[in-house]
Formats: sequence, C-alpha cells, structure tokens
Amino acid sequence: MKQNLLTALRDIVGDTGLLTGSDVSQRQDGLLNGQSCQAKAVVRPADSEELSAVLKLCHQHQQPVTTQGGLTGLVAGAFTKADEIVVSLERMRKVIELDRVNRTLTVEAGVTLQAVQEAAEAADLFYPVDLGARGSATIGGTIATNAGGNRVLRYGMTRASVLGLEAVLADGTCISSLNKVIKNNTGYDLPQLFIGSEGTLGVVSKAVLRLRPKPSAEATALVAVQDFSQLSKLLNLAESGLGGGLSSFEVMWNSFYRLVTSGDRHTAPMNDEYPFYVIIETQGSNHEQEQQRLESLLEAALEAELISDAILTRSEAEREKIWAIRDDVEALLNLSPVHGFDISLPIPEMEAYLNQLQQALSQHWPDHHQVVFGHLGDGNLHLIIGKVPYAEKATLDELVYAPLAGIGGSVSAEHCIGYDKKPYLKYSRSEAEIELMKTLKRALDPANILNPGRVFDL
Ligand code: ZN
Repeated sequence: MKQNLLTALRDIVGDTGLLTGSDVSQRQDGLLNGQSCQAKAVVRPADSEELSAVLKLCHQHQQPVTTQGGLTGLVAGAFTKADEIVVSLERMRKVIELDRVNRTLTVEAGVTLQAVQEAAEAADLFYPVDLGARGSATIGGTIATNAGGNRVLRYGMTRASVLGLEAVLADGTCISSLNKVIKNNTGYDLPQLFIGSEGTLGVVSKAVLRLRPKPSAEATALVAVQDFSQLSKLLNLAESGLGGGLSSFEVMWNSFYRLVTSGDRHTAPMNDEYPFYVIIETQGSNHEQEQQRLESLLEAALEAELISDAILTRSEAEREKIWAIRDDVEALLNLSPVHGFDISLPIPEMEAYLNQLQQALSQHWPDHHQVVFGHLGDGNLHLIIGKVPYAEKATLDELVYAPLAGIGGSVSAEHCIGYDKKPYLKYSRSEAEIELMKTLKRALDPANILNPGRVFDL
C-alpha cells in the first residue's frame, strides 16, 4: 500500500518532485529546536494542478499531510510524524502578475516574503507585512498563519493585505478566489477562511496581495517613560499628533533594555534607569515634514510630562542603532534555559497582569529572569522568561496563559497555536467557538488529513 502510494505520487510530480530516504531525514522540521524531518516522503508539486492531484490521492488513501513553508514558525506547527508526508511548495515560486493600476501582486505561495517585498519595491510600491524571517518565510506560510510583525499598528495583520487567494482542499478541489478588488461583499469571504487556519482547512497555493504606496520618508525617536499609565497616554498622543503616520510604537521594559545594552554589543543611547523605553516611528512622503511632526510630538510629550528623555534620530545610522537594540533577540539567549511567549491583552490590564505573573514566577523559581518587550500599540507583548528548567515548561505555560482568560487576553497574538499552544486554546476561545472550528474542519477535511493534531484534536 505504502509503495503504491509513493509510486502514484511519483507519477504525479515526477522524480524531482518526490523526496524519500535520506533526502527527507536530512531536512529540518523547523528553525528553532528543529528536529529532523520524520515524514516518509516530501512531495514538491510544480503547480496547482499537481498539488490538487497529490491531495486527491492522499484523501483517497487517508494519508495525513503536513504542509511546510519556510519553517520559521515558533509553535511546532511544521513538525512531522513518521506516518505523514510533507507537501512543500518550494517549487511554486512564480511571481505571476504585478498590477500597477490595481496595486496588486499575484504570486504562487512558495515565494518568500522578501521576494514579494522586492517585487513590490521594484514597481515603487510596498508590501507592508514584515518580520525578521522574511528571507525564509514563504508568503503561503505567512497567510496560513496570518503573520503580524512590526507594522501591524498601521497596516494590520496579513489578512488585511490579502485580497484573494487560491486554495486546494483536502480532497483536491481547487478553490480559486483570486479577487483583486477591495470591496467584494458577495457571500462568505472564502479567502479569509483560510487565512490563519494553519493549513488545517486547505493548502494556500496562490495569493493576490494588496500593495500600498511606498512610504519614502520616516522619522524615528527613542523616548524614556517613567510610569506605565503614561505609555497609553503617549500612544494616544502619537496616534493623533502624527496625522495617521504612526507606524511603530515598540515598548521595551527596563529589563529588556538593560539586558541588551549591558553587554558590548550595543552602546546605550540613553541611561538605563528608566522603567520603559519606546521606539516611535512615523512614515510619510516628506522627510522634513515627518521629522518636524515627530519633533513637535516629542515637545508636547515633554511638556505634558509623559516622557522624561528623548532622542530624535538624525541619520539612518542612528535609526538603525536604535532598532538593533529592539531586534537583538540573541542577547536573550544568555538567560538559558529560556522560554519565549507571544501574548496579547488589553492595555489597561497589562500592568496588573505582569505584576501578578512576576509574583507567581518568584514563588516557583526565585532565580527566574523575566524580560518584557512588544508591540504595545497592538496590545501584543513578548515575554522572555529565563532560568526556568525546560522540564517545568508545562507549569510555566499554565502560569502565563491561565490568567489571560479572565481579562480578554490571547494566548497567541501573532504566532498561532500549532502543537505547542493547543492545550491553552481554551483560555482564549469559548467551547462554542472551538466547536464551530471543528464543524468547519470536518466539513472541509472529512478524513482529517490536513495538518492533523494542530490547533485542536478532533
Ligand atoms: Zn512580534
């Protein structure tokens, strides 16, 4: 039976399209703590037709399939088991069409995020979704996980930048919704159904992406804030004072700033005694104008005593130095054994939540180290908790996630559920919601072959 299936798959995708044996085991299932690929084969269709034929066959054989993109996810969603086969869209990397008038880019799902950004830029346009793993992450993967990143505050998550898509269902049916218009209220929004579904409802094979005018100027400042309550006031002031230009409002808690600037990797741009540091960035079309707007904002914030210190960057080199501090996750590895969390919660609840968490963690692990930073404008915090043994991760997870249920928080702001967060989905979704997700899953994938065991168990 197994041999029959592999032979039939080879008939569809050819020799280059099917990997087995050591070609499979030498591959990884992920970047961070990636295990070697356990699946019995990797199938690499050349186009949507082959993908459709592959899934139809797997459906007939009730063969579980794991779809892999750039393997940059952080919730083990791409991990494979020995009875699974991998479907990879790594040969489907065509940029199909750039439409300057509609400002859309149509691509195959295996194209990397960086290639999409570059294709947009070549036409003087802009694809706003951006994240550190842009060179490896595929557009299909960012769609399946509704990726966020550093510009969500201004442009929204991935779902706000996808106008249409083509997806192949578990039984091989190809659903083509390659819509290009912004307004289309004709029944259910099918593309949105697949965005963020983590490959459990269908395999995204093509997408029509919404491009924006390229911002040609930006201004960036680093400011110091004394008190948590001033952060949200400052955010409001920045949103109204920058004329809609605010594109980043990144907060670093003292724990983060001090850790990253204490080594010899960075020189601290301002002293490390302040409780909070914020990177404020505005984007527009005129450099002088953006710089002036930001300068007036900083003056108003100083006057209102919302900030205690401020640096307005005057060159690209200065700007890069400030972002390098925010982006330096490597400094956090010193805290090993280290655990990363991606949560969101209403801003008014943040301070109390973090204080309670700190107390709970101190009771369990007096020597633990808690570092906080995040996209405050989106209510999204990244917690790094160090010096907690890996064997005690389940206890730690429970302490972080359980309190979110009562305050309208989310156990995953931008990293999805995968395998890792499955036990905690219940803290962010009601029983009725999870039941409806299962109803959709059963309707679209009755044999449960697509990424089984992710998000929830059937
Ligand atoms: Zn993030």
